[in-house]
Amino acid sequence: MPPNRPDFLIFGSPLILEEDIQEVIDTLKSGWIGSGPKVKYFEEGLKKFLGSDHVVAVNSCTSALSLALEIIGLKPGDEVVTTPITFPATANVIVHRGATPVFVDVDVATGNLDAEAIEKKITPKTKVILPVHLAGRPCDMNKITAIAQAYKLYVVEDAAHALEAEYQGLSAGTMGDFGAFSFYPTKSLTTGEGGLLTTKNQAWAHKARLLSLHGISANAWERYSDSKYRHYETLFPGYKYNLTDMQAALGLRQIGRLKKNLQQRILIWELYDSLLGEMPGIQTPAKPEPRTVHARHLYTIYVDEKKAGISRDQLMIRLQELKVGTGVHYTAIHLHRFYREHFGFQEGSLPRAEWISQRTLSLPLTAKMTREDAEYVVEAIRFILVQ
Ligand SMILES: *Cc1c(COP(=O)(O)O)cnc(C)c1O
Repeated sequence: MPPNRPDFLIFGSPLILEEDIQEVIDTLKSGWIGSGPKVKYFEEGLKKFLGSDHVVAVNSCTSALSLALEIIGLKPGDEVVTTPITFPATANVIVHRGATPVFVDVDVATGNLDAEAIEKKITPKTKVILPVHLAGRPCDMNKITAIAQAYKLYVVEDAAHALEAEYQGLSAGTMGDFGAFSFYPTKSLTTGEGGLLTTKNQAWAHKARLLSLHGISANAWERYSDSKYRHYETLFPGYKYNLTDMQAALGLRQIGRLKKNLQQRILIWELYDSLLGEMPGIQTPAKPEPRTVHARHLYTIYVDEKKAGISRDQLMIRLQELKVGTGVHYTAIHLHRFYREHFGFQEGSLPRAEWISQRTLSLPLTAKMTREDAEYVVEAIRFILVQ
């Protein structure tokens, strides 16, 4: 008998509590749903949580990355060294500025940028290193920072997976020139859609704030709330990247639960580790590195088709039939059609990233999950691989 459960286990389904819903209702009833006081509280909460100097809430991580690259002054012809094992947004924002993404191969065990390989890809055109803390595992920031200093490069951290991650006592996303976080529905804190830009530089933070709201000199809250009306003028041709109070309200209470939620994901993670270790053809994730906190955003296994007797994709389909949603993080970006056609990237050029692309599978892992949910996932895998 195949295992069964009443409901489908949705991949990345967030834990939304009554207090989150009440906070949104409070905003809806307040008469102010745009960008205003709740965005400020949300920013203050995250600034404190991260220990970051400056934060700017925006409507997505993609927007945060875009702002970072614009403020750096990235221009056509420049190169950005980054990882192919990431969400397309990480590379797309480079292309938007007319610059060229230069993909570096990754470490097989962690999927993170191979810091040793970065140096080989640096040219006189290189301006930025853009690491991604994959699955919530911090990159080797000592090496990345040292290379950036030696070659006078900027570092922009894509910390979309890494809100709770720490590297030698520092929060991921606060070590580079800029950090970018995501509050997309599957991320560990969600505002529906949302993001955060962090930086140590006050002038950059100020510019990011202006650019995130049309580049005008006074925002709507300043214009329409009870403070004195002020005329505004355009200082830069900015964007529409602002987070709203309605979104911030959803995320506000979640900040206080981040640590607790991480503990629940660690519990599920360790359960997976102990129950999946002996499964044929399944490689469980590498242990977190010493002196780091892994944010446990994704529990990613590698499926060895020969030993498992089934491909990663077949396993995904079978799990879906058994009511378990899974994800692939990621198929290497350099082989996506646009990147192949536009930049001429070829198969075989980044063998370790391609190896991961073919094998990686992310199992459900959120604070909403119970021990029983995780045991069910393992039972489903056992049924498919062993029965
Ligand atoms: C989710 C994600 C993004 C994009 O985040 P949005 O908030 O959806 O723009 C970027 N990079 C990585 C690694 C992500 O996982």
